[in-house]
Parts: sequence; structure tokens; C-alpha cells
Amino acid sequence: MKTVYFEKDIPRILATKAAAKCCKPLLYTSLNAVKYNRNIPDPPLPAENWVRVRNIACGLCGTDVSFFKATTGTNSALEPIPTAKRTYLGHENVGTVIEAGSKVTKFKVGDRVTIREYMSSCNNKDIKPVCKYCEEGNYNFCLNFGEPSPHNLPDTGAGWSDTFIATEDSLSKVYDELTDEQAVMIEPTCVSVHSVIVDPPKKNEKILVMGCGTIGLGVVQAIKIVQPECEIWVLERVKTKQQFALKLGADHIMQGEPYQAAADATNGSKVYTGMSNNKMFFGGFDRIYDCIGGNWANTTALRMLRPRGILMKIGHHMRAITIDETPIWWHELKLIGVDAHGMEEWEGRKLYTFDLVQEWIRDGIYKTEGFVTHHFKLDDYKQAFKLALENPPDVIKIVLDC
Ligand SMILES: [Zn+2]
Ligand SMILES: [Zn+2]
Repeated sequence: MKTVYFEKDIPRILATKAAAKCCKPLLYTSLNAVKYNRNIPDPPLPAENWVRVRNIACGLCGTDVSFFKATTGTNSALEPIPTAKRTYLGHENVGTVIEAGSKVTKFKVGDRVTIREYMSSCNNKDIKPVCKYCEEGNYNFCLNFGEPSPHNLPDTGAGWSDTFIATEDSLSKVYDELTDEQAVMIEPTCVSVHSVIVDPPKKNEKILVMGCGTIGLGVVQAIKIVQPECEIWVLERVKTKQQFALKLGADHIMQGEPYQAAADATNGSKVYTGMSNNKMFFGGFDRIYDCIGGNWANTTALRMLRPRGILMKIGHHMRAITIDETPIWWHELKLIGVDAHGMEEWEGRKLYTFDLVQEWIRDGIYKTEGFVTHHFKLDDYKQAFKLALENPPDVIKIVLDC
């Protein structure tokens, strides 16, 4: 097996953090905590409910970049939680089952699958009985997040591997009608769709989507599917992404100075400017999807909401940040966090986000055309990271061919 993983090795993690801050070329050397091993023996299946999958392709996600730059902060809520020595990169994958244990019932050799539960969860680690959240399909809230697998797990691999092993319950079947390129878009689309369904926008809401990368563009599209009668504004610097957002259903692009643009868009008050270009206005959007995260985006989003407006927090960095919390209490704002995907309730049915999204892609309700902009070979994963870090205007989704 060959696989890319993040090694929990403190000196190396510190070196990676330092390189990310002040000497980017060092990120691409053997100093990085993200490693590529081409010579790991194929692990045996740990139990009879496991399968082995040969990857076809796998997308590059912001989470993978976080590992490459070792950005997880020592002050984040994630830090105290024990993790395995190695975290395998890549979760936006499509692959084919090449071996199935004798107790596997959901898949057979030859089936195309994608990883649904890549985060630490009962199914992902094969913990039985599963916790109440995993039981209901909301594996993103797993109570056993910090608990080890009952198996002495070998190197399992994941999406950025030629092959990997997983429990059948952590995978979803890829619908026959979907192409491989559509299949790598399932997981990121799930994040966008989940963030909209978790608290659906109401009729006539004036909505701002901040940031039009893969997730933001997906959010624009999902909002118009879930609530066609609303007005979507987009805050995005890159012209081609603005155009893509308009094509996917956005109504307007914010132009010029953001606070003035937000005040104009929402018939708000004049914009007041204080010390050090500190700005505020009255009025604002009913709802904002922050697909950027970090200090600037959080502070700005909170000030651009109307009283009792709603901030949907999607973009995030895995470290503590500093924000001005004043608008939260002053305008009695509501904050709704969004993590990945799970079980949805949609039109009277309960189903995994992974199934809802595949239905939408299959039925032409959700379009994936134009999202995948670049392909690299798995062996060239460092070039893929380089492109992601440089982030030129034409990059949306980068895919590794495994
Ligand atoms: Zn992802
Ligand atoms: Zn669980």
C-alpha cells in the first residue's frame, strides 16, 4: 500500500508550523509532518465486517491543507482529544471494493464506494455498540471520538492511498449513474447541503454567502434548491468565481468596500467609521453563510447581520481565534455551527446526506460540472498542495488520481 498521512510527531509538527509561517519551501521537504510512504505492506482486514478498496480518485480538501501546514492550535478544543499516531489524508474519494470480509452485507467486490465516516466515529473505528449519535446517523457528533479502536489497527490508509481498508458501515455506495468525477464531489457537496438543511432559510430572506470556493459555491446552489424564493448576495474577490456563483443561482455580487456594499444591499444605515478603519452600520442580512472562517470573516459577518440575524459557521480553522463579540449580544444574533454531514430530514424522509446529495446529482437537481479544475497523480501530491497554497484564481477543486 502507498499512502499519505500526518504523523503525530511533536518536533516535526512544530517544524511544519514554523515552515508554514516563515519558510514555505521547507513544507515540501521531508521535514513536513505529512509523509508519503510507498512501501507499507497491505494490511490484513482487522475483522470480517471490513473491506479493502482500490481508490480511483480523491479530492483535496481544506482539512488536508490544515494537516500539511499543521495548523491545529494547541488552544483548540480538539487538542486534548487523543488521536491515532497517524491520520490518513483524503476523504473525498471514489474507489472500488476489491476484497470483502465474510460478514460484509452492504457491498460486494466491484462496487464503487466513497468514505462517509472519515472522522473519528464508532463505525470508523469499529466500536460496538455504537453511541447514540452514530446510531441515529449523526456520526459527526460521535461520543467515542476520543476512544481507541478495539482492534490493534494496522496502517489503514484512506483516500490518498492506492488502496485502503475500512468497515463497511463507514462507507456509502456510489450510485451507478454518477461518473467518477461526480463521485469525488459527493463529500464536499454534502457539507454545503448539510449546512443549508440544518436550518433551512425562510422565504424572502436576504442572504450573504462569504467565500466562493467549493463549499461556498455549493451553498449557493443548495440554498436555491431548498428555498428558491430568497435573495443571495455573494462576497468573493475572484471574478471567475463570482461568475460561477451567478450561474449557480446567486442574485448579486457585493462590489467595492464590503461594509458599504452590505449596507446598500440591505437598505441599511450609513456606514460609521471609527479608529483604525473600524466600521459598523445598522441593518444587514437575515442570514450569512461564512465559508471563510478566521478573525476577519467572523468579525465582519457578525457586523453585517440584522438584529436577530443568523450566522451559519461553516468555514473554520482548527485553532482559537479572536473576534469582536459585541454584535452577538447587542443584536441578539444566532450562531449555528456546521460540521460535515450526517442524517438529514428532507421532505418527510430521513436519509444520509450522502444519499440525498447523490439523488440530487443523479437527477440533475445539483450540478457538479465546472467544480473540478485540476488533476494530479497521487505521487505528485506535493504539487497539488503547492497549487492549493498558491490558490490562483482558476482553482476550485483539485483531485488526485490514485
Ligand atoms: Zn472535505
Ligand atoms: Zn459514535
